[in-house]
Parts: sequence; C-alpha cells; structure tokens
Amino acid sequence: MDKNLKPATIAAHAAGVLDAQSGGVVPALQPSTTFTRDENYELHRPDNIYSRDNSDNLRQAEEVLRVLEDAQETLLFPSGMAAIAAVFRTLPNGGTAIIQSGIYWGTTAWIRDFCTRREITLIEVGADDLPTVCRQQSADLIFIETPSNPWLKTVDIRAIADASDATLIVDGTAATPILTRALDHGADIVMHSATKGINGHSDVLAGVLSTRTNDATIWTMIKSDRKMAGAILGPFEAWLLIRAMRTLPLRVERMSQNAQTLAEALLAHPKVDDVLYPGLPHHAGHDVATKQMKGGYGSLLSVLVKGDRAEALRVVGKLQLFLRATSLGGVESLVEHRYTIEPHTGIPENLIRVSVGIEDISDLIADWTQALG
Ligand SMILES: *Cc1c(COP(=O)(O)O)cnc(C)c1O
Repeated sequence: MDKNLKPATIAAHAAGVLDAQSGGVVPALQPSTTFTRDENYELHRPDNIYSRDNSDNLRQAEEVLRVLEDAQETLLFPSGMAAIAAVFRTLPNGGTAIIQSGIYWGTTAWIRDFCTRREITLIEVGADDLPTVCRQQSADLIFIETPSNPWLKTVDIRAIADASDATLIVDGTAATPILTRALDHGADIVMHSATKGINGHSDVLAGVLSTRTNDATIWTMIKSDRKMAGAILGPFEAWLLIRAMRTLPLRVERMSQNAQTLAEALLAHPKVDDVLYPGLPHHAGHDVATKQMKGGYGSLLSVLVKGDRAEALRVVGKLQLFLRATSLGGVESLVEHRYTIEPHTGIPENLIRVSVGIEDISDLIADWTQALG
C-alpha cells in the first residue's frame, strides 16, 4: 500500500492484503505446519518450508504493524514478554543494561533475574533521571516504557536517543503505534505487548518488535534466534490480530477520548486525591506527552482515591462496568488494585489502575460516581 496513506486507511485495509486464491477481501487462515515440494524436489513456495520459520498469516500481520510504525522490519512473538526476552538475550555476558524503574512489573522481574544469571550489570533509573544517567553511563542497551504502567510516567524518547549511543528500546504498549511512532522519535527498536491495545479484544496473547534498521547486529541476532529457538506466533493468533487491527485507530481514538473525559471527571471528584494521566495539564509529563503522542494520551490511567487500602478495595468492589481484571487496552473497561498484585514495589495502597474501553462515556462516569459514593 502507498506509504503516505493515513493509519486509519492502512489499518482498515490490513495493509492491502487480499486472498489471491479465492478473491476474498479477508486473508485465508492457513494453519499448515509443513509445505510440499514438487517431483524435482523444488518447494512450492521457497518462503514456506515449516511454520516454525514463518507463515503467510504471520507475515501479513507483521506487514500491518510495519507500515503503521514506518519500520524497516517487524517481528511478532507469542507474548510481549517473549519479545522483551528476545531483545535481552542478545546482550553479551558481563554487558550493561539501563532500564527505567517503575515500569510493567513482569518486565522488571524477568530482567532482574536474567541479568543476575548472565552477570549483566543492570542499572535501574527513574524516568526523571534517565537523560542524565544515560549521558554519563555507557551501556549496551537502554530499555524505557512510555507512558509507563501503572505510574503513567512519560519519557522523552528523543532526549534519551540523543544522550547515548546504546541501542534504545521503547516499550510503547500504552501508546500503541497510533499515538506514538517511537522510531520517528529516535528509538532503535519499538516493542509492544500486542495482547493489549493492538489486539484490543482480550483474546490474543502476542508481542511485537519493529526496527528502524534491519541490518543492525542486534536485529540480526533477534531474528535468527526467533527462528531457530522457535518463539513464533501461531497462524490463528496472527489471523485474529489482522482482524482486530482493522479497527485499531478507531478504538484508540475512542478509548483516548473516554480516558481523557473520565480522568478530568475523577480529578474533580471530592473523594479522589489525584489522577495520573498524561492528558491532564497538571501531569509532570504532559508537555513531553503532547510532543510525542498524536491524537490522544491513551486508555491507561491510575486513580489515587482519598483513604487507605480498604477504601480503594471498597471502590473497586462497587464498580459494575469496570471489570476487576488485570491487563489493559481492551474494548471493555477494567480496573486493578495494583497493591494487591505487587505490594513490594512501592505502589500506593490507594492506587487503582484503570483501562478505559470504548463504552459510552456517560455510563463509565456514572459507574465511578456510584462507586465513589
Ligand atoms: C502486558 C505488558 C507487557 C507484557 O506483555 P504480555 O503480552 O502480557 O507478555 C509488557 N509491557 C507492558 C507495558 C505491558 O502492559
């Protein structure tokens, strides 16, 4: 497809994929694990041998994401964590990594364990100190997450890219490629948990990496390891992703509008202490977010209710539309009391993380109003 087309057009057409065999406007699901050779032992299609290497549905889903990110190459993985692990496995033993602190807890927990086992020096730095530390400290790799989950910290991607020669990886899960194209802001690789907003229907587990330059050594290693070690996404998941991504821009637009309106309503509520959301003018990262997020500030926010853990749990228990479940970026709104999940990480006891869906905003506000009571 013409690369100058807008994201909504690219997504609606799934980057131009059609089914050549049937003429269908939707690609066929091809679950075969193995592919035939003819009587002269030539492959029917040289790029199809065995589905641990690749598959048509995987390539089609990757192409949609590649065009949306304006990347040179995109690779899908069976989960967001598998995509993050694929990046860190390229680090040499005894190397150095800088990661932002206070990010997605699953990421921090796995990276700490991995770096200990591989004798990699791990430097964890708060979002505010990242530019200074990245300028002073040499490293093989820098990993940041913006906006961060569940603190909603915003990091200036361009400032970190300019501060260091290290490979810069950005977890853009909360922004999606619709709101931020991290590669345009200087990231070397952008990662997303496609389980979240990219799929958006809470029914596919997937992760994705996209690169600015596909001849970089780190990318060659990631690509070869995915193929040889088998961290591949199955064709059915890829096919579901293609289907879901047709409405990605539409969903992100609606969720961001809903989240902005809900954040403003909650901030004005007498029983709320604060709302962490980059779309609010009093948010410390508002200016940076405005610079690098286009079309909204995403679906993720955290609410600090007045009171203690019991009060937060009481409010969460009274919500009816906001389902009490982990994850984010789905069409249905969710809440999570993060302290119950990660009490050891310094998360406030009165923090409620909210993933805002595509429901009618007046219903969402009414639900919070009755719950805060
Ligand atoms: C969920 C999430 C991940 C991990 O992705 P999975 O698909 O659950 O493995 C990584 N980063 C962020 C910001 C997330 O929200």
